[in-house]
Amino acid sequence: MKQKRYVRGRALRGRLLRKQAWKQKWRKKGECFGGGGATVTIKESCFLNEQFDHWAPQCPQPVSEEDTDPAGPELLVPAPQPVPGVPSLASTMLPLYSLGPSGQLAETPAEVFQALEQLGHQAFRPGQERAVMRILSGISTLLVLPTGAGKSLCYQLPALLYARRSPCLTLVISPLLSLMDDQVSGLPPCLKAACIHSGMTRKQRESVLQKVRAAQVHVLMLTPEALVGAGGLPPTTQLPPVAFACIDEVHCLSQWSHNFRPCYLRVCRVLRERMGVHCFLGLTATATRRTAGDVAQHLAVDEEPGLHGPAPVPANLHLSVSMDRDTDQALLTLLQGERFRNLDSIIIYCNRREDTERIAALLRTCLHAAQGPGPGGRAPKTMAEAYHAGMCGRERQRVQQAFMQGQLRVVVATVAFGMGLDRPDVRAVLHLGLPPSFESYVQAVGRAGRDGQPAHCHLFLQPQGEDLRELRRHVHANGTDFLAVKRLVQRVFPACTCTCTRPSPEQEGAMGGERLVPKYPPEEAEQLGVHQAAPGPRRTCVGHERALPVQLTVQALDMPEEAIETLLCYLELHPCHWLELLATTYIHCRLSCPGGPAQLQALAHRCPPLAACLAQRLLEDPGQGSSSVEFDMVKLVDSMGWELASVRRALCQLQWDHEPRTGVRRRTGVLVEFTELAFHLRSPGDLTAEEKDQICDFLYGRVQARERQALARLRRTFQAFHSVAFPSCGPCLEQQDDERSTRLKDLLGCYFEEVEEEAQGPGGMEDTQGPEPGQARLQDWEDQVRCDIRQFLFLRPEEKFSGRAVARIFHGIGSPCYPAQVYGQDRRFWRKYLNLSFHALVRLATEELLQVAR
Ligand SMILES: [Zn+2]
Repeated sequence: MKQKRYVRGRALRGRLLRKQAWKQKWRKKGECFGGGGATVTIKESCFLNEQFDHWAPQCPQPVSEEDTDPAGPELLVPAPQPVPGVPSLASTMLPLYSLGPSGQLAETPAEVFQALEQLGHQAFRPGQERAVMRILSGISTLLVLPTGAGKSLCYQLPALLYARRSPCLTLVISPLLSLMDDQVSGLPPCLKAACIHSGMTRKQRESVLQKVRAAQVHVLMLTPEALVGAGGLPPTTQLPPVAFACIDEVHCLSQWSHNFRPCYLRVCRVLRERMGVHCFLGLTATATRRTAGDVAQHLAVDEEPGLHGPAPVPANLHLSVSMDRDTDQALLTLLQGERFRNLDSIIIYCNRREDTERIAALLRTCLHAAQGPGPGGRAPKTMAEAYHAGMCGRERQRVQQAFMQGQLRVVVATVAFGMGLDRPDVRAVLHLGLPPSFESYVQAVGRAGRDGQPAHCHLFLQPQGEDLRELRRHVHANGTDFLAVKRLVQRVFPACTCTCTRPSPEQEGAMGGERLVPKYPPEEAEQLGVHQAAPGPRRTCVGHERALPVQLTVQALDMPEEAIETLLCYLELHPCHWLELLATTYIHCRLSCPGGPAQLQALAHRCPPLAACLAQRLLEDPGQGSSSVEFDMVKLVDSMGWELASVRRALCQLQWDHEPRTGVRRRTGVLVEFTELAFHLRSPGDLTAEEKDQICDFLYGRVQARERQALARLRRTFQAFHSVAFPSCGPCLEQQDDERSTRLKDLLGCYFEEVEEEAQGPGGMEDTQGPEPGQARLQDWEDQVRCDIRQFLFLRPEEKFSGRAVARIFHGIGSPCYPAQVYGQDRRFWRKYLNLSFHALVRLATEELLQVAR
């Protein structure tokens, strides 16, 4: 008999394991940032030959210039650059065609059609021509087109024509790093393209930039991080003028979208303010009317955002849904039925990685015998393989290649598969379980039948809504408590002691700082629905630069980084514009001089920030004679009323000077290192207590509304599919039911056409209205739940849980302070009450916590 064990592996060692999990996470994060984090170690020895008498720049070992950069992470210490100024008018691009007298687009000229042919197309597809002509007339445009309807042509063609007229650059922002290299190599030869992303080495990056500077590149593809990250692009004065900027997956820009990414807002701002871009092309495959409207405002698109192009689901797709008890068996039956038996290329989507492996193995064992060798004596195809983001890159590539080349019949995948998949003859897309949103469903099924031939899509829905539970977890993972919101607000708006005399113009000029300027035209401030945007009282405080160290803040609030950034974004988007969010930055500085204290003193004469820092140091600790200094840059900067960016540049410049006779730039041997990543923002310090309360209420209300909205969306998704579902897959085996397929398409069409998404009903926040689909009645479980909560708390007396933290563990949701790697090992509690309402659990846990405290 098997021994029953509750704890996997060794017994729980909370703190140690948690610490380890943290370390791993931050190491990984460092890597994503292009080598930051763990590599920013301070070594007293030369890192080239490990000797202690010199640093790498003076290392006698012959190494290439490239390798001698003492600050390993390239992005942290950008080479000294002139201050990027406001782009001059000369660099702004004029449109290729002018508008008619009443603002109408010009008739499409012959050269556009010629270019179209040159790019390998015979004719425009719906929506393309208008978008292309708008961009060529210099008008910002939002284009909502289903996947595979030819969005990329809409930037390729204008890029080609603009570049043909005069040397210029088209920027394409795309979050899909894995696709970039493919996209670049897939472009027609007349269009020269390059990409920059975090997966590149410094050398590769430099060589790309070299080509860009020389105007040898027409299209430059960037990830959002590569554009707004610490390194960024060289100043516009060194680049050819930007014809226009194309932003892919532009729905991420909207706080109302199903996939809001705060860094997209900064993308827009950097493009507009640093790069001088006025003409934007926003591309997305999935946006509701409300999302589209919001995005249009951000891009300053002047027309009513129409959902141009065809309906969300093309007519050649046949949709069906069934609710089977045994999904695995039903899947096998369906694939062997008449409708699917002879279909050649099939994608099956699962919500969990484990399922992809399991289902692929199942298909291989159960269907392979029936298959036999391929027709015409070809080598038999592989039946099925799994694909998910947890697999290594090479393996994923292999599976994708095999599928593309027709050597693999079925891919069993998570949503990670299929973005940018360029195969027109996928014949079937199946879903095992509810997709997380209509957007994701439409995008997935849109991968089938792009050649216009009939294709089949089937969804297996769990009859009791069991799959809703899994999806709800993701919603609750982003929620937070009022207390955490309050802590954040306290950190963001600490009271200042300054009487805030505005800095004199000379002072501003001396630091070369970029001043706080209004970021949004007034109409954009209206997006919260407040039409009379109150400008707020006239502040005496002009605002201070502040930095919240990311790691510390994440732990203090027990919220993921992205969630904190989202809250900060809400404050910025608020009509009162409570703060200005700046790019995350490293704040801790360590400066070491190989020449000892004397050199440090000498440098201070050249560099006011260093002088100020040494002076402050002297007050605290009169001891002399150090050759290195460490300090918090933001404190220094704020105490002196300077700008962080310019101070950082000034410090970086200490690493270089000029040979007096020849004027050649050379290294001084001084080592300047920056560590400690922080949220960076500018906020006033004179908010009243009432204002802070008001901000807390606003933020908390916003978080709750978002949660309600997400839950309501999920329920609506479930109900829509449920309403057209057959009780079993039997009726779907042979022919499709056109009536139900059409009904589902209508439901989807309605969803995308709606302007307002009203969260109807309580949205799962209350359990008074009876349980949600997939949930049990709390009353039946209450005693047992309370008992388990008490036991859980009893076993961990040293932890300070909140009600939410306990509920998360019972729902199997990891958070920064209570990670899944640690708490997921204790199977007695982890995920135990997934069948109960999350908010009911929070309430019970809070009550029990109060009991314990008494
Ligand atoms: Zn102040």
